[in-house]
Amino acid sequence: MIRNNINIKSKLPDFSNSIFATMTQLAEKHKAINLSQGYPDFNSPQELLTLVQKHIAEGRNQYAPMKGADTLRKTLSKKYKNLYNRAYDWDEEVTITAGATQAIFSAITAFVCEDDEVIIIEPAFDTYAPSIRYNGGIIRYSTTTPPDFTINWDQVKRMISSRTRMIILNFPNNPSGKNIAAADLEKLHRLIRNTDILVMSDEVYEHIIFDRQQHISLATHEELSKRSIIVSSFGKSFSITGWKLGYCVAPQKLTHEFRKAHQNIVFAANHPMQLAVADYMKNPQTYVGLGDLYQKKRDLFNSLLKNSRFSFIPSEGTFYQLADFSNISSKSDVEFAKELTIKHGIASVPLSAFYHRGNDHKIIRFCFAKSDETLKKAADILCKI
Ligand code: PMP
Repeated sequence: MIRNNINIKSKLPDFSNSIFATMTQLAEKHKAINLSQGYPDFNSPQELLTLVQKHIAEGRNQYAPMKGADTLRKTLSKKYKNLYNRAYDWDEEVTITAGATQAIFSAITAFVCEDDEVIIIEPAFDTYAPSIRYNGGIIRYSTTTPPDFTINWDQVKRMISSRTRMIILNFPNNPSGKNIAAADLEKLHRLIRNTDILVMSDEVYEHIIFDRQQHISLATHEELSKRSIIVSSFGKSFSITGWKLGYCVAPQKLTHEFRKAHQNIVFAANHPMQLAVADYMKNPQTYVGLGDLYQKKRDLFNSLLKNSRFSFIPSEGTFYQLADFSNISSKSDVEFAKELTIKHGIASVPLSAFYHRGNDHKIIRFCFAKSDETLKKAADILCKI
């Protein structure tokens, strides 16, 4: 007797398709202007493309070292010293990953055991929770709300228990566009200084920061940096999201454990891309100039929306702008975002997608990493709604 039915026990039974993919599919179906998923609609810098072609042509097409190409790790180590005044040993404390997503999954896999608790500050990027659950961890959500998205450290304090293993931060924050303040790091430090709690800091938008503010990396904090795993992505910085290249910096003891997971999940990231990025980043202007580039886009988009019925507080960082549509519709943000795509041809992401239980704010997220022409076309439509 042949058994036709295979019983599969899902490890994430209640998990549904990512809202980003859903909105992108809807955008494609309705030929909408896609301001939903976070990637540029303009090409990567030509110099970077030429460099990767050079490395491919020169035959650098086999496995990179497990930890990442030496040149890239050396360049990153210098960047941390120059920008954040923290010395990370390039060989022992810097690892190149297949995007920040893999760095996040690897960090959680390396440190979170069955029944360990992890605190997530929401709104939060959508890979943290599933990565924790795959590893048997338990999630505690500390919620921040519009318009300020201020972290409620008293609430975080109440959530900390002997089982808390990790706190996940993401600043500049996707989707709120908020930055973290040095005072927040002090509060966090006071809460966890006598514990074994680790911090995973997702800093993929570290260079996209506006109005002359400084990014407060966890690397800048003398004490917190000792227990922090910082992850970042070249995808956001250099408009190469499709290359899936990121990295993790962490003190040697943490990196040692991180690499065990990294080695078994991916072993090594794309080699020619790493070499190209290392060459390209030798000029720091390639990343320190990003804030200006995206600030111009934010300002253009927001000034074009000034006469619309959307209301918003300018984003402080990232390439996202939240917009409140309560003057336009009383629908839920999910319904409104779908209607905006289908009826008006503009795709966005509802804010509630970043909360584990949703919420009833009338807010959607626009990605403004788009050509000026796209932004103008989108704003024309949005102003008529
Ligand atoms: N973290 C955040 C906050 C993000 O917004 C993204 C990309 N949308 C990532 C991580 C993933 O980065 P990567 O594409 O390098 O995996």
